[in-house]
Amino acid sequence: MKYYIIFGPPGAGKGTQSSLLVEKYCLKHISTGDLLRKEIEKKSELGILAKSIIDKGCLVDDATVLEMIRKEIFANKPDVNGFILDGFPRTIEQAISLDKLLESLGRKVDAVIALEIDDDVMIKRIQHRAKIEDRVDDMDFETIQNRIITYHKKTEPLIKYYKEKGNYFPVNGETSIEDGFNDICQIINKINNE
Ligand code: ADP
Repeated sequence: MKYYIIFGPPGAGKGTQSSLLVEKYCLKHISTGDLLRKEIEKKSELGILAKSIIDKGCLVDDATVLEMIRKEIFANKPDVNGFILDGFPRTIEQAISLDKLLESLGRKVDAVIALEIDDDVMIKRIQHRAKIEDRVDDMDFETIQNRIITYHKKTEPLIKYYKEKGNYFPVNGETSIEDGFNDICQIINKINNE
């Protein structure tokens, strides 16, 4: 079982690349953003709380998202070669908790595939997505800016964390979807052959 993280700022293309990877390598996609949006749709207690946080461009608390991830990883899903975590971890605390969780299974994070894009590209991509998908957090400029600030403050420190562990693989996120996907496949193929 392989454990991959698809990493990057909002609008980097994590969801798009994840769908392609799921097909090619037979992986289970776990997106904390998608899971939270499902809770919002259901209007569950968690969903109602999450909505107020997400709509402001802030992060949901670490314990809540960790519990969601734990459930997904432990859910029976025997027919996959691994997992692709999208939107998690987003804080150092989440990364440490994930390492502990995988350690308890005798596993580790095999690769952090990082889609690198500049802030101006992020904004343009999110504004474009707002026209296609119905996401409240994509509609308002202030919310987008807050997500970018939150990314730099809380999530970017993970780059150093994973670089030090030696499992950080950067990819240019500003190329076409196909070129980005090819770059990612090269990384995964290399890991699979090790
Ligand atoms: P994007 O990558 O475009 O920001 P996501 O769908 O990954 O979109 O996340 C949407 C929102 O859900 C985030 O802005 C945040 O509020 C919340 N969220 C998703 N994943 C996490 C996480 N791991 N920790 C805390 N909050 C999260």
